[in-house]
Formats: sequence, structure tokens, C-alpha cells
Amino acid sequence: MTVELISVGTEILLGNIVNTNAAWLSEQCARLGLSCYYQSVVGDNAVRLKEQIQQALNRSDIVILTGGLGPTTDDLTKETAAQLMGKGLVMDMHSLERVEAYFKARRIEMTENNKKQALCPEGAMVLDNDNGTAPGLILEENGKRMILLPGPPNELHSLFEQQVKPYLQKLSPEIFYSRTVKLCGIGESKAAAMIQDMIDAQTNPTIAPYAKTGEVHLRVTARAKDEQEGKKLVKPVIRELKKRFGEMVYTTKEERTLEEAVVKLLKKNKMSITCAESCTGGLLAGRIVNVAGASSVFQTGYVTYANQAKRRLLGVKKSTLREFGAVSTQTAKEMASGALAAAKADVAVSITGIAGPDGGTARKPVGLVYIGCSVQGHTIAQEYRFSGNREKIRDNAVSAALTLTRR
Ligand code: ATP
Ligand code: MG
Repeated sequence: MTVELISVGTEILLGNIVNTNAAWLSEQCARLGLSCYYQSVVGDNAVRLKEQIQQALNRSDIVILTGGLGPTTDDLTKETAAQLMGKGLVMDMHSLERVEAYFKARRIEMTENNKKQALCPEGAMVLDNDNGTAPGLILEENGKRMILLPGPPNELHSLFEQQVKPYLQKLSPEIFYSRTVKLCGIGESKAAAMIQDMIDAQTNPTIAPYAKTGEVHLRVTARAKDEQEGKKLVKPVIRELKKRFGEMVYTTKEERTLEEAVVKLLKKNKMSITCAESCTGGLLAGRIVNVAGASSVFQTGYVTYANQAKRRLLGVKKSTLREFGAVSTQTAKEMASGALAAAKADVAVSITGIAGPDGGTARKPVGLVYIGCSVQGHTIAQEYRFSGNREKIRDNAVSAALTLTRR
């Protein structure tokens, strides 16, 4: 079964909104074992929309459209789709009641054009929308299928999860079941080399490495008749990957981030963390605090951008700064031990580096970063050389700091 996505809306074409719906839907379809070969964006224009749908129907089994289901005159998706399938629009009484109830519950007067929301193509399956007024619609004709869904992501997501997914599951004889092994402290090419034999020999499941900032994700995907079979196929591969990468695996949970893994580890060991940041200016603290429940391990952090601040808040010695410079192993170490003492934490991590674009020299180029770590009176620092722009260097530094913390 092939599926094709059409995102409708002039604001997407103009770049005013990012087409997150297509990205989200593609992922959902891939999980359901549906192959998506085409995606397109078309503005709120009846002629071009018609052309686009026609082409999609010619080459794909299922066409999913999002957007343009609303009550205004530039919302054309339903009318155009119905026309192409040779269907008229009829008032769906159940939907009309729901639209009326929606406005009543919110004590908003319903305008006449909202009745349009309840007009549905003859013979269409109507999908109730619990978060908005426009229902979703499924049209079937001569083995072709069109699925019309509202543009607002929250409406789309819940409609899809609850009603479209079960419908598609029945059409697709097999699913794709995926799990991800997330690694830190290793580059993509080295990680791939360590499993080259597995990649060469793979049929089902398959392993695909993806490079993320400061991380590598290995996605293991199995074709299976259902989730249960998928799990069974993927399990031994995950076990083998864990064996090969050992400590570098920070999680095999899809949603878990590196910072979550760090917070979890600290919690388990009943340890608290603090950080002292120079070039990352609070990014590390920000990522730690992003984790719900971080308060049990994180109380305070220090942003010490200027040398003065490094001395005053962290007690970095004047002689250290003069002799070795702010970007040095020695300063990173003193920042970490200073933060540990000041915050009375169990672990302290420090970051000092040259994020660029200016400030680099031959001896200390842009991308040079030192990360310090202090635990129970023992302090180390490591040198890193990152590439990329300012943003990338700072993101990489934070990921490396989190990776160092796990050790
Ligand atoms: P409404 O009833 O709100 O008019 P609709 O189904 O007609 O819904 P649109 O008018 O096309 O949908 O879009 C409404 C809003 O939904 C947009 O302003 C945008 O915020 C969001 N949206 C639409 N399409 C997309 C998309 N492809 N990706 C992300 N967000 C989108
Ligand atoms: Mg609209």
C-alpha cells in the first residue's frame, strides 16, 4: 500500500508556518508499514489543489490531506475532494449537532458559515473531531482512498490516533516496529564500523545509524505482522547492540533524552549536580532543568562568562587565568571544583571554550572546548575540538558535558 501526503495552505507555501503535519504523518505511516513516496504542499487554490489531488490519486493508493477543512471561503479541501470523486455535499446531522454543541459549550455564538463544517461528501465516513469543529473524512471510490484531516496539529493528532490509525491498520498486512538504541561519546562512523558485520548480514530487522548532535542513534526496524512479532524480532538485535556498545548506550527508550538519562542516574545514586558554564551561557543548566523532576538533583548553576565572574563566583585563581587562559584544562578544573564547593553539590561540570566565530587563534582555534568534572574531591578535565558554527559548537559542548557526567 502506498500513501501520499498533501498539505494544504498558502501560509505553508509562504514559509509562515513549518509543515510539521507532514513530518508527523510520515512517521506515523512508516510505523504502519505504509510506503510514502510523495509529499506535496499546495496553496488555498481550487484549480491547483484539484490538479494535485488528481495526480496523487493516479499514483498512490491512499491520499491524506491536511488543512483547509475550516469554515472560511479559502478552506476548499472538502469541496475539491468531493468534486473529484463525483460526490455532492450533504448536511450530516450528527456533525451539525456536534458543531452546535461545541459553540454552546464555549458560550460562543455560532456564525452561519460554521454550518458548512457539517457538510460532508455523500457516502463519506465521518470522523468526530473532539478538539475542533471540522470533522475528519474518509472517502473511498474504486479502490482509491482519500483521508481529509484538519490542519491544527492537536486536532490532527488525536483524530489520527483514535480513528485513522485503526482504519489504516486494517488495510496494511504488516507493520514496521522500531526501537532506537541511543549512544553518546562515540561518532557515527566509528559506531557504524563496530556493527558493520551486523549491517552487512541484516535482512529483517534492519539497523540504521543516525548522527545527532553529540549522539548517535541506531534505529532497529522490523517488518512484522503485528507489534508482538515486531518486538520479538527486534529484541535480540537490541541485546547485541547493548553488548557491543556497553556504557555508551544511554537508553533504548524512544522518548528518553540524554539529559533525562543523566538526571535518572543521579537520582538513582542520590547525587546532586551543579554546573559552571562559560561559552554555553546556561545551555547545560537549561537542558537539565528541561527534565521534569530535575529539582531533586539540581539546585543551582553558574554562568560565568567573564574572567571576573569565574574568579568571584567560582574562585578560579588569577594566576591560572593569566598563565593558562580562560580556555584551558586548568581553568575548566578550577571552575568545576569551585562550583562543587560553592553549590555543595556531589557532582560539578564545567564548560569553557571558544564558540566563535571570532576569538580563535592558531594555538586556540574556534571549537576548542574544555570540560571539567568534579566528584568527591576528584577533578578531571578533557579537551574537545568541535566543528561547525557557534550554535553547533555550544550544543556539542553541552552534549559532551552530559556524556562526561554519566561516567
Ligand atoms: P481551521 O478550522 O482552524 O481553519 P483547517 O483544517 O482549515 O482548520 P488550516 O486553516 O489550513 O486548517 O490551518 C489552520 C492552522 O493549522 C494553521 O494556521 C496552522 O497553525 C495549522 N496548520 C495547518 N497546516 C499545518 C501543517 N501542515 N503543519 C503544521 N501546522 C499546520
Ligand atoms: Mg482554515
